[in-house]
Amino acid sequence: MSGLAERLLSQITEPVVLEYARELVRRPSVNPPGDYAVVTEYVLGEMRRLGLEIQTTECHPGRPNVVGRLPGSGGGTPLCLASHTDVVNVGEAARWQHDPFAADVVDGVLWGRGSADSKGMLAGMLAAVRAFREANLRPRGELYLVAYADDESAGPCGLRDAYRLGLVRADHLVLGEATNFEIQHTFKARLWFSVDAIGRSSHGAFPERGINGIDKAYAVIQTLRGIPLNQHPKLGKDTVSIGMIRGGEQVNVVGGRCRVWFDIRWGPPRTSREIRAEVGQALERLKTSDPELELSELEVTEERDPLEFSEESPLNEAIKAAGRQVLGREIGLGGWYSSGELWPVWSQGKLQSGAVIGPGEPWQAHAYNERISVRELVDSARLYALTALNVCGAD
Ligand SMILES: [Zn+2]
Repeated sequence: MSGLAERLLSQITEPVVLEYARELVRRPSVNPPGDYAVVTEYVLGEMRRLGLEIQTTECHPGRPNVVGRLPGSGGGTPLCLASHTDVVNVGEAARWQHDPFAADVVDGVLWGRGSADSKGMLAGMLAAVRAFREANLRPRGELYLVAYADDESAGPCGLRDAYRLGLVRADHLVLGEATNFEIQHTFKARLWFSVDAIGRSSHGAFPERGINGIDKAYAVIQTLRGIPLNQHPKLGKDTVSIGMIRGGEQVNVVGGRCRVWFDIRWGPPRTSREIRAEVGQALERLKTSDPELELSELEVTEERDPLEFSEESPLNEAIKAAGRQVLGREIGLGGWYSSGELWPVWSQGKLQSGAVIGPGEPWQAHAYNERISVRELVDSARLYALTALNVCGAD
């Protein structure tokens, strides 16, 4: 291991990483509704203490992104480490073995909402940047640390807004999520839309006099479940999911209108234009076979193509080299069901390579009794720090 790497790693200790993680978990930032005040105040305080140059953006009032920047001395490649600050609802409190915001540590495991999604990763990244400071190392390329909002709501005010405003100028980006230390480099596309099946009301005793929008919506569901789905070696099968359905008025009335919300996800190489065409053709065929069928226009709320970064990108090579030193093994590469903020930043033309990686089990996200191994949290801080050293360089 190089002398610089040793100096950096010697600064990363369990108490430092664990304190960051516990302090973050103890500050609820449940989204929705998205109350970021206490967690943002904490992150701002820590970044100030580390002497980072700080900027914030708030494209929606109350949903701030915090951008910390360790200026580069020149000649290196900039890198952005980023993790989101919001967490999902805790559900039924009684189903938690530990208070979800107490950040209890038992037998080397940190419990709590956000421990694995994704405050634990933010803690690791904070500790990584802190290590540069404490080791008196100056990166050659800029090192950014972004704590961003609006992730759990898949909203527009997160990391992409910091990039859009030019607050982050790094075309290598690492997002922290619980991936079991696997590099996620290929990502599913998604198309979210809703459509109304429009019926005609009648008395429930005379259904033949009306057109049942619910029946028609059911046919639409069956039809769209039948669009061609492929299998991807790293992403598994393409999926069609019905997220919501709303229709009908009361039990003895034939429903006039029924709306269905679809979430379609698929792997490369098909584009969203191709999937939209599949959907359109399937609905046209259905209309031909059922002249009564009347549909509204599709209302599309989210649309993105699949995203794939090379397995051998310089960023992935930097992470793998860090993995060999920190974990003592070869880090694997995989595919992820969502490109998160990578897609919107990439589609701004501001990304050369991106990866999602972090400690912890992916299924801990959004689960009851969410938890993460403390040892893995410390390893993540070491991994993020060495990745930054490998990408940015340092003096
Ligand atoms: Zn997350």
